[in-house]
Amino acid sequence: AKRIVIKIGTSSLLYQNTSQLNLRAIERLAFVLSDLKNQGKEVVLVSSGAIGVGMGKLGLTKRPETIPAQQAVASVGQGELLGIYEREFQNYGKSVAQMLLTRDVLVYPQSKKNVFNAFQELLKLNVIPIVNENDTVSVDELDHKTKFGDNDQLSAVVADLINADLLIMLSDIDGFYSSNPLTDPNAELYHTVTSIDSSIIQSAGGRGTKFGTGGMVTKLKAAKRILSNNQKMVLANGENPRIIYNILAGEPVGTLFE
Ligand code: ADP
Repeated sequence: AKRIVIKIGTSSLLYQNTSQLNLRAIERLAFVLSDLKNQGKEVVLVSSGAIGVGMGKLGLTKRPETIPAQQAVASVGQGELLGIYEREFQNYGKSVAQMLLTRDVLVYPQSKKNVFNAFQELLKLNVIPIVNENDTVSVDELDHKTKFGDNDQLSAVVADLINADLLIMLSDIDGFYSSNPLTDPNAELYHTVTSIDSSIIQSAGGRGTKFGTGGMVTKLKAAKRILSNNQKMVLANGENPRIIYNILAGEPVGTLFE
């Protein structure tokens, strides 16, 4: 795989049930992605975590309830988060770019073309684009009713748009199980999933943590898009981002959707 999209979830970026950043995870992620750049790969990072970081910055212990309040906290956190990435990647001499997108970019031909061109140019410049949903314009990522975690789906949209060879989704769980392992001790890990139907979506429970977002449902929706485009996705545990090396070496870690 040469062109890789990596999505990292809130649950891998923050210590569990807190708004405290897991700096070790971020440092390791920056190391691995920079190292991949040195190997000649093209890397795009889709990062959640803006609300958590914003909450930490503003000293809030509870996720705000209204969507406008979440948008506000997300905008505070987004700048802070990008600053952290900027510094971490700087350690390895890499430049990052902030790309705030909405999931509907593919729907409008002109937006699609503009976003595609911007990605191409950034990759040509050897920059690592860091993508997040633009929470000021779109509340897909925030709205409780439409389900959380549209960065999952956004990452599939990005993989589609730039025709990525692989989407790696890093979460706080080893992969996709027959049921939620947090509540079902008999849950079994699926190593490979080749199609997604409604019965599979049934086995995806709700979100895991109060700071995490989508749970499995949005990850499966992302996988569905990937499969329908004949692309590949691996869902794996992001606790140690070095797992990306194992994934790229074709080792059987996590769940492969292909
Ligand atoms: P992220 O912040 O990485 O996007 P989420 O917390 O939104 O992660 O989603 C991951 C959580 O989904 C897991 O911690 C787990 O509790 C939950 N989950 C629900 N159903 C399943 C399932 N069938 N297999 C794996 N995890 C599941």
